Amino acid sequence: MVDKLHIVGGGMAGSEAAWQAARMGVSVVLHEMRPHVETFAHQTGHLAEMVCSNSFRSDDDEQNAVGLLHWEMRAADGLIMKKADKHRIPAGGALAVDRNPFAQSVTEALKAMPNVEVSYGEITELPEDGHWIIATGPLTSGHLANALQAETGKEALAFFDAIAPIIYSDSIDMSKAWMQSRYDKGETEAERTAYLNCPMDRAQYEAFIDALLAAEKTEFKEGETAGYFDGCLPIEVMAERGRETLRFGPMKPVGLTNAHQPDVKPYAVVQLRRDNALGTLFNIVGFQTKMKYGAQTEVLRTIPGLEDARFARLGGIHRNTFLNSPILLDNQMRLKSKPHIRFAGQITGVEGYVESAAMGLLAGRFAAAELLGMPLALPPRKTAMGALIAHITGGADAKTFQPMNVNFGLFPPVDGLKAGRKGRKDRYKAYTDRAKTLWTEWLNQGALNAA
Ligand SMILES: Cc1cc2nc3c(=O)[nH]c(=O)nc-3n(C[C@H](O)[C@H](O)[C@H](O)COP(=O)(O)OP(=O)(O)OC[C@H]3O[C@@H](n4cnc5c(N)ncnc54)[C@H](O)[C@@H]3O)c2cc1C
Repeated sequence: MVDKLHIVGGGMAGSEAAWQAARMGVSVVLHEMRPHVETFAHQTGHLAEMVCSNSFRSDDDEQNAVGLLHWEMRAADGLIMKKADKHRIPAGGALAVDRNPFAQSVTEALKAMPNVEVSYGEITELPEDGHWIIATGPLTSGHLANALQAETGKEALAFFDAIAPIIYSDSIDMSKAWMQSRYDKGETEAERTAYLNCPMDRAQYEAFIDALLAAEKTEFKEGETAGYFDGCLPIEVMAERGRETLRFGPMKPVGLTNAHQPDVKPYAVVQLRRDNALGTLFNIVGFQTKMKYGAQTEVLRTIPGLEDARFARLGGIHRNTFLNSPILLDNQMRLKSKPHIRFAGQITGVEGYVESAAMGLLAGRFAAAELLGMPLALPPRKTAMGALIAHITGGADAKTFQPMNVNFGLFPPVDGLKAGRKGRKDRYKAYTDRAKTLWTEWLNQGALNAA
């Protein structure tokens, strides 16, 4: 007899994981605390409730990484995509859905599976044995979060994300920016040139502060306390405290010499740091922000060198419980200290409905394969699934780990294609073609294992 798989949290990730594991023949118990225990954002007792927007974002599987993730999930018979397609409503190129019928139909589909039991109740402790997936999301209940913190240590479980915008490195104008660490600190040349610097003169800095102060900001929701204020102030709040605050904080110009104009001392400097081992993404250091997305791109593109910046993700600050996955999880999302527990969804440090469901799909398949004694290989890094799981379980820098959306910066480059804005269309098509072939091969290998 094969043991049961227990999944905690019936959101995007837990629902998809349950479906995938049950389709592979494993018996699943899906534990969901709602409607008995509520969160500040959920409104119903349905599984897979969309807590805010009703969009799964772009459905373009040739030019967009999230669209490619849709494609890969559809190819893997994903439940979330199947029901999203069924309840699709017109939204241009985006996949938007009628949220209540969507969540209701996910709930019904799972309850109709003979080997899925939905058990309503809060799980408050980490299980000591058995086979488990924890997919309790950004609003993991307090009891379970405490138990997790006791296991992982205080530093390794966050309750807020404070995301600085992330930029594709090939969209930065290096005729204005230069690479240098402050005071040239570091043992090696790579360390001494670890940061990318964008200089501002006084007029540019003053204009930037004016734009920041005027920009539209997002407000916190009720119940989403502003506990972030201790450690990581949004740049616009710093600017509100005084026009010079940023110049003495993340934009201080000291210890840096403009490589393009060594005789001119910059009035302020914006620093960017590598965000992934591939070096395709850079985050703006200390630039967490609650500016609305439109305002963010407008304001940040006034920074010299970033006029044509393309953003892999924009900044934000949210209530969000997530693990420092690069140090805590193995490459199949098992907790290293308790490998009978896997994690899936937003708690692993991905961000968004689609990415969370995608990590649920993988966790469900990995867990079921393990229970059936037919372990699965990892998906290739050149697929959207593979790129995302590789990022959270090791590709990202653990010291600065913040939740991530899927984007092409996570993919190993395709050789021989033109970099920069001009070659983008061909490049993205090459990424998505390559990913589709490899994902299909990976799925077939899983099917062969299961045959
Ligand atoms: C306020 C807010 C707004 C958001 N807006 C968007 C958006 O517009 N677009 C977007 O793509 N993403 C948005 N997100 C992120 C989004 O919530 C996630 O991407 C996605 O829902 C995560 O999926 P998940 O399965 O990991 O978690 P969830 O979908 O949140 O599912 C987790 C489930 O676990 C249950 N649970 C928690 N603790 C326990 C426990 N101890 N025992 C049993 N069950 C438990 C919860 O009730 C919940 O049903 C938002 C998040 C928040 C908090």
